[in-house]
Amino acid sequence: MKNAEKQLQKVNIRPTAMRILVYQFIASRDAAVSLTTAEKHFEKSDRTTLYRTIKTFEQNGLVHQINDGTGIPKYALCQHEKHSDLHLHFHCTKCKETLCLTEHQIPQINLPNGFIPEDINMLAKGICDKCNV
Ligand SMILES: [Zn+2]
Ligand SMILES: [Zn+2]
Repeated sequence: MKNAEKQLQKVNIRPTAMRILVYQFIASRDAAVSLTTAEKHFEKSDRTTLYRTIKTFEQNGLVHQINDGTGIPKYALCQHEKHSDLHLHFHCTKCKETLCLTEHQIPQINLPNGFIPEDINMLAKGICDKCNV
């Protein structure tokens, strides 16, 4: 996956070996990744390095943080092809995975005068398609 290097450079992140690995890991998963999940996958690297790597990704708009109500932030890749990345998230109560429903955009929300939205967090909870068999 040479693509990883390009994706990192696109958002002005210097593609170090570690960053490429973390990017590929997040990209390879269907569900959003928590720091703990990443830590389990990269046994040899310490939590601080992983945390910093993911934070760099977040600051540069490569990943977005998802609060799924579990209290553990999760991260997923941003869809840069789309003009807006405000999409619905889904937390499965059975497999505990959190998914980006990127095809399901959050509808335009009207706020009272003087309110400026910076981030809209919309989360659906229930049973995902994999568990619903
Ligand atoms: Zn599920
Ligand atoms: Zn998402």
